[in-house]
Amino acid sequence: MFINECLNIKNGHLNIGGVDTLDLAAEFGTPIYVMDEQTIRKNCRVYTEAVKKYAPNSGMVLFASKALSFKGIYKIVAEENLGSDIVSSGELYTAISAGFPIERAYFHGNNKTYSDIKFGIDNKIGCFVVDNMEELDAINQIAAKKQKILLRITPGIDAHTHKAVRTGNVDSKFGTPIATGQAIEIAKYALSLPNIELAGLHCHIGSQILEYEPFILAADIMTRFIAEIKKITGYEIRELNLGGGYGVRYIEEHIGIDFDTCIKIMCDTVVKNCKENDLQIPYLIFEPGRSIVANAGITLYTIGSVKEITGFKNYVSVDGGMPDNPRYALYGSVYEAEVCGRADEPKNFECTLAGRCCESGDFIAENIKVQSCRCGDILAVLTTGAYNYSMASNYNRIPRPPIIMIKDGKPYIAVERESFEDLIKNDK
Ligand SMILES: *Cc1c(COP(=O)(O)O)cnc(C)c1O
Repeated sequence: MFINECLNIKNGHLNIGGVDTLDLAAEFGTPIYVMDEQTIRKNCRVYTEAVKKYAPNSGMVLFASKALSFKGIYKIVAEENLGSDIVSSGELYTAISAGFPIERAYFHGNNKTYSDIKFGIDNKIGCFVVDNMEELDAINQIAAKKQKILLRITPGIDAHTHKAVRTGNVDSKFGTPIATGQAIEIAKYALSLPNIELAGLHCHIGSQILEYEPFILAADIMTRFIAEIKKITGYEIRELNLGGGYGVRYIEEHIGIDFDTCIKIMCDTVVKNCKENDLQIPYLIFEPGRSIVANAGITLYTIGSVKEITGFKNYVSVDGGMPDNPRYALYGSVYEAEVCGRADEPKNFECTLAGRCCESGDFIAENIKVQSCRCGDILAVLTTGAYNYSMASNYNRIPRPPIIMIKDGKPYIAVERESFEDLIKNDK
């Protein structure tokens, strides 16, 4: 019935993790993010089990925490034996505050500042994923002893065209491209620096990818590059991080990819290439973000107005919008929504879901179908667990919603609702 397993209908009401969404809205108010902890854990295990099965020389799964960052999530993924990909000192600080095992944290980003690097080293971060020459120099200078790093490499795959193309995406702010010869140069340079331990390579080819082919290509190109480094320098890379980007189903029409299969075909590609090129099979790392949390979350809103503009569109306005979910405004993302109290009725009302901001592009979804609805109804937008809370802002001085987690059929507050006092706390 629903694209997300944690949802079902009871007495006509939408339930998440066995809890009635109308009860959640009544208890915690709206808007709220609601997440099912069991779904997050299940998603983690799909990846950890796949790595156990298919990575012959072992490996690790990192949660790309930019998809959802708050203290509790680092605890959950640590309990599930994941590492974490962090992209700022703020994310690192949050992970540390949660007691996350920092040796399992990988520091990403194309422009880490001096203080980011210092903060990482002072806190004994496991690994830096180095983007460029300047960063190599900075780490070499700041580190007092050998610091483990991976180099972010651009394999040159455009995963977002209909067919993955090999030559796409060399033009990127991230990483160093193989095609231009710059990747081999940065590898040589890394090997020449005394405080740099070049453990391996990293690539990340995009996000919300719903096909297998780009992932196979990435695994193929990266293993060949390991062989090239060995041929030219004699040095053999022992760790390969193939990034994230595994796409999820936001709407019925999305044909999802199977994550277990995806990890398998990437591992198989690496193993085959290693055999052909007489290489040791590297320790393999995968970095899912979205696919760990997206389908575990929904956002509940209260409908304020239903405006049927005669001869034009219908607008349903809710008490949130682009501050809690900027994804439509940013990239025209698609969602499904349900009227929580009439979830068993047919969806025959076509409308645009509008937010409450003073911004005409403040939509959550355009031209979607929901059940008939009116002022006061609770509306759920589905699959909002990733890149919603983590991208939320205070635009229009709207406090960020809380995150309510469901565990064993009971809700708990994982992140409090921001208060008006929070909004002005830095104002002089
Ligand atoms: C964003 C990102 C990820 C996670 O991508 P998802 O699409 O959320 O799986 C992984 N690695 C890097 C380097 C990223 O920037």
